[in-house]
Amino acid sequence: MAIAHSLGFPRIGRDRELKKALEAYWKGELDESGLRQVGRDLRATHWQLQKEAGLDWLPVGDFAWYDQMLTHSLMFGVIPSRFRPATGEPTLDTLFAMARGVSGQCCGGQGGPASELTKWFDTNYHYLVPEFSADQQFSLSWTQLFEEVDEALALGHKVKPVLIGPLTYLWLGKVKGSDFDRLELLDRLLPVYGEILDRLAAQGIEWVQIDEPILALDLPQAWKNAFERAYNLLQRSPLQKMVATYFGGLEDNLGLAASLPVDGLHVDLVRAPEQYPLILDRLPAYKVLSLGVVNGRNVWRCDLDKALQTLRHAAARLGERLWIAPSCSLLHCPVDLGREDQLDAELKSWLAFAVQKCREVALLAQAVNAPESAEVQAALSESGKVQNSRKQSPRIHKAQVQERLAAIRSRHAQRAAVFAERITRQHERLKLPLFPTTTIGSFPQTPAIRQARQAFRQGKLSGADYQEAMQAEIRHAVAVQEKLGLDVLVHGEAERNDMVEYFAEQLDGYLFTRFGWVQSYGSRCVKPAVIYGDLSRPRPMTVDWIGYAQQQTNKPMKGMLTGPVTMLMWSFPREDIAPEAQARQLALAIRDEVQDLETAGIGIIQIDEAAFREGLPLRKLNQKAYLEWAVEAFRLCSSGVRDETQIHTHMCYSEFNEIIDAIAAMDADVITIETSRSQMELLEAFRAFAYPNEVGPGVYDIHSPRVPEVGEILALLKKAAEHIPAERLWVNPDCGLKTRGWPETEAALANMVAAARTLREQQ
Ligand code: GLN
Ligand code: ZN
Repeated sequence: MAIAHSLGFPRIGRDRELKKALEAYWKGELDESGLRQVGRDLRATHWQLQKEAGLDWLPVGDFAWYDQMLTHSLMFGVIPSRFRPATGEPTLDTLFAMARGVSGQCCGGQGGPASELTKWFDTNYHYLVPEFSADQQFSLSWTQLFEEVDEALALGHKVKPVLIGPLTYLWLGKVKGSDFDRLELLDRLLPVYGEILDRLAAQGIEWVQIDEPILALDLPQAWKNAFERAYNLLQRSPLQKMVATYFGGLEDNLGLAASLPVDGLHVDLVRAPEQYPLILDRLPAYKVLSLGVVNGRNVWRCDLDKALQTLRHAAARLGERLWIAPSCSLLHCPVDLGREDQLDAELKSWLAFAVQKCREVALLAQAVNAPESAEVQAALSESGKVQNSRKQSPRIHKAQVQERLAAIRSRHAQRAAVFAERITRQHERLKLPLFPTTTIGSFPQTPAIRQARQAFRQGKLSGADYQEAMQAEIRHAVAVQEKLGLDVLVHGEAERNDMVEYFAEQLDGYLFTRFGWVQSYGSRCVKPAVIYGDLSRPRPMTVDWIGYAQQQTNKPMKGMLTGPVTMLMWSFPREDIAPEAQARQLALAIRDEVQDLETAGIGIIQIDEAAFREGLPLRKLNQKAYLEWAVEAFRLCSSGVRDETQIHTHMCYSEFNEIIDAIAAMDADVITIETSRSQMELLEAFRAFAYPNEVGPGVYDIHSPRVPEVGEILALLKKAAEHIPAERLWVNPDCGLKTRGWPETEAALANMVAAARTLREQQ
């Protein structure tokens, strides 16, 4: 009998109950026992949902008050000294202090800034980075997992606790204070894992899932070697252990993963289907193989027939040793499609969220175990119908888009003249001073702006009144920028809720859910738009706003767009065509917008690619291909303009070392980047590469309301000038200002302009 299981369920709740409870608790509107009750209710609901879906083993330990890595840090006693209680055990407030930081004393510790937040592999989930000190000790310090196991057992569930493995935990942490190899901590950490496994065994647990997703990365030899050592030690525990890998193929770690002294291995066959036969070959005869065939990273209904081809083969080979699962934890997809009451029936029939995905896993196991059952037959025929309707639907496949794609030639991704010629014409046209000043696009999104947008959406504000309200915001933003003396102005993005959603809503081929929330970090959730069909732009998207803004000033007004790679990375993509094909469709739509802006007299157009770096595949092997199509997509959207039209791009949080040649290949006339927090260190890569085009390194951090001093900005600019020649240097903040208030924005920009002027005088 094949077993159906899951690697983890979203914790946030179908109505984002956890988010609401956390925020109420932080505001003091809900007490700790109230918060704990919400957690308990969510866990109970989620186990019940998964059980009813038909899973054999339910995960426990996938719930977290903020983040699963943070829970593990508490469990191991990895608590930075600034938050460590002087006496007694850590509390829930210790956990939130680590996650959110505290000014002043808190919960027995002295307080301080939060731990660093970083993306979880190539997802949009962010985890709290463990901080290790040279004298780091580990001791079992947090009993949440055992309590939740008891809770599940008391409810009569058959559960499999989920742990992050010791190597993945250490890999994802950071050494603080002194410089040493965090792998050296392994021997100190392993006894705590031993203790945890013993306690789980004593609670009556049979199977434990140990996540080691780093097995899908390029690992240094020392880390590979450590795997065997670690799992040999953990072998002493009588519990059956399944090592779970996901987000990619095992590749050179396949032999290592297959031969670890554990009882089961989970592999991701959605991201890396090609590894299936190789794993089957290498798997020892005693071991359980869990096949992740239902995509835990996307919202599409599984093609059951296709999945069954592999599963039937696996069942014949493995018998009892076959387990079936989603590819990874369902943390990364929305909770329940049943909640979507406004999607039309056809679109809805193509989708599956976490609850539905659990059902798919259970059905697949049933199809292996009892292929003749009526329920299985019905499900398979329904799945076949859905796949066919998608393959043929004219809502998905559009001849016009296909024809345009087929007509793309390399010259379409090539500006007419080389940069050196273009920039001369642009300088003649724009007549900007040395060290031109600008901003990244958005100005403060005040409550009034949000209210107007909401009222318009709800039909409480007429189109004309809404337009007037937004135009008033534009006039205000322009007036402030003129008063401050900025050189290149922006319209301020008041009409945009989000840099991706705003454009997605105006493109054909996108759908929107009402409740498709996915946790990003802590209480923060995102609701990505879904690309379901060929993408096209029925009409101009920004020309009216930007044109209006340009009419208010004689200074150059910068057009503001989101680039194709970022549109793709921050949406749920299609699975029936490759990501590069979707990027190309987006590029053509944006290209039309770029050209329309040019025709409307806009001389500078910025195309944001905030997610360019994060799209980089986890494995070196796959990076080159990604960079090629990502660069191509950017060039395709930006190359349809005349030489004297200046193309900008903007990227934040980016590390450029590995990708600087791709950045140069994008050939934007100007790139603005985030650099202030790294003290211009990022520019080292630009200098080493002899990056030829113009650069605007961010001169202050927009994430805090702090107003930078003129001297500070000046010092940063001088540092920047050591890397980038003065005549190619722009002056701007790190990113958009939408999260700031007007007073600090004006003060900071006034200082920025003053610094640029001082520097000009010194030339
Ligand atoms: N133009 C956008 C803004 O200013 C850029 C946002 C971003 O890079 N994340 O808000
Ligand atoms: Zn940015």
